[in-house]
Amino acid sequence: MTKIGLRIYSWPDAILKKKCTEVKFVDERIRHLFDQMIILMRESKGIGLAGNQVGLDLRLVVIETQEGILRLVNPRIIKSEGRIDFLEGCLSFPGIELKIRRAKKVWVTALDENGQPLDYEVEGPLAVVFQHEVDHLNGILFIERVSFWKRLRIGHLLKKIKKF
Ligand code: ZN
Repeated sequence: MTKIGLRIYSWPDAILKKKCTEVKFVDERIRHLFDQMIILMRESKGIGLAGNQVGLDLRLVVIETQEGILRLVNPRIIKSEGRIDFLEGCLSFPGIELKIRRAKKVWVTALDENGQPLDYEVEGPLAVVFQHEVDHLNGILFIERVSFWKRLRIGHLLKKIKKF
């Protein structure tokens, strides 16, 4: 347990397969959780982190961008377009990188840390991060986005994570 009370859960912890619950009220507690998630994300040098990755059954996501950190409550992808293949990592799968095919552009709605509605239209690598994190909230892991054969090839790496 780190001093801030949250920690990152790695595969195959069951919480990662959990479809997270909608946040009803965006209050001080949520803002405090965001602060803790951001500390953890930065400590681990990640660029995105979802609620269930830190043991929370809540639809919360933090994303590091060039313009600063995004705090998203109940993010939803409402439209997607195009295709992109991008090499992804995941804080819940230390040491594993996988090329995943996703939409190149996505439109996202969410609430901010004050409960105000947000709209994003993002493309390229940032669109990839949005999709990766929203997948987490739905209990979908990036290893499920690659073929069976590819998963077989990284089997030894997955075994290594299990030993942690
Ligand atoms: Zn991840």
